[in-house]
Amino acid sequence: MDYHDGTRAVRAGLPEPVPGQPFLPGPVFAGPYHLDPVAGPNAAPDAYGRESNPTLGRLEAAIAELEGAAGCLVFANGMAAVSAAMLALTRPGDAVTVPADGYFGVRLFADGDLVPRGIAVRAILTDADHDFTGVRLAVLETPANPSMAVCDIAALSARAHAAGALVAVDNTMATPLGQRPLDLGADLVVASGTKALTGHSDLLLGYLASNDPDLLATLRSWRSHTGGLPGPFEAWLAHRSLGTLDLRLGRQSANAAAVHGMLAKRPEVTNLRWPGTDPVALRQMRRIPGVLAFELPSADHVGAFLTHSALVHPATSFGGLHTTADRRAQWGENVPEGLVRLSCGCEDVDDLLADLAAALDRAAG
Ligand SMILES: *Cc1c(COP(=O)(O)O)cnc(C)c1O
Repeated sequence: MDYHDGTRAVRAGLPEPVPGQPFLPGPVFAGPYHLDPVAGPNAAPDAYGRESNPTLGRLEAAIAELEGAAGCLVFANGMAAVSAAMLALTRPGDAVTVPADGYFGVRLFADGDLVPRGIAVRAILTDADHDFTGVRLAVLETPANPSMAVCDIAALSARAHAAGALVAVDNTMATPLGQRPLDLGADLVVASGTKALTGHSDLLLGYLASNDPDLLATLRSWRSHTGGLPGPFEAWLAHRSLGTLDLRLGRQSANAAAVHGMLAKRPEVTNLRWPGTDPVALRQMRRIPGVLAFELPSADHVGAFLTHSALVHPATSFGGLHTTADRRAQWGENVPEGLVRLSCGCEDVDDLLADLAAALDRAAG
């Protein structure tokens, strides 16, 4: 049965109903599990927590179902997942591409930890021409954080494959309800579940998803060897949060559309970007994220805006229930001082618009 997104989100990864049992069983806390005295680990699937845990397994089934993937591996956070893919799939002498305008942490990892291991790193702007000659692994990110630039996953995957490269798409901003990179030709999804996927600003999570059994086996053994797993409580909280993903994204996206319209009329706001106005995003995405980027004239102007707003909380990360804004240059990222990434939450749109307009007025005056 091909259910729609809201139905899939509320049901993903849940066990078959059993009278007297909960909808989503609680977290299983286990390091070692009891073993059969004779058959040992061959008698039951769960033997040791670094290899398997039923709470993690249910979350993985849920994310795989939403991504349209044969398999998913969850990690302790997004960087654990991205770094696992980049380390497990490359060898000294290989080259990788990373987004020049995408998540800062991926470039820090690539420059700081891959280059010293003999892996060449090429940073390419998301909407620039991509050359994959000699590349082993291309990491794309669309929409990119924080530039909000978009690239065509199907076209770039075809070009990368023709050059012999594997394609990983960072699906953090979109979430699997917003975009299905594997359907568009990517080999691998890498993502942070810390952001919109779980959306309550209360946990860290990452995951990898793929349809390729060899890739999944390589990445699974990497994770068993290195152990970057989330704990069962985080995995359970994440699974619980998935049920409202469709509702949250719907509200966040609608709020962002209204905020975009309001910001577009403000003279002090420049370089306003939102994927809802990008033709490639509109064609390739199933829904548009609630995140916008724009510039105010200075860091002080951003500070005044945030000081005067009651509903926009200064915080990094994005995709949560609460509207947040982050001045990215404060983290040392090489972007304009006044660049703001605004993540629309699930507040009522009229409250949000009124608060934003009043805060911008006070910051300008
Ligand atoms: C946040 C983020 C990451 C890293 O995720 P963590 O959960 O913070 O480790 C990776 N990629 C993108 C696009 C992100 O926004």
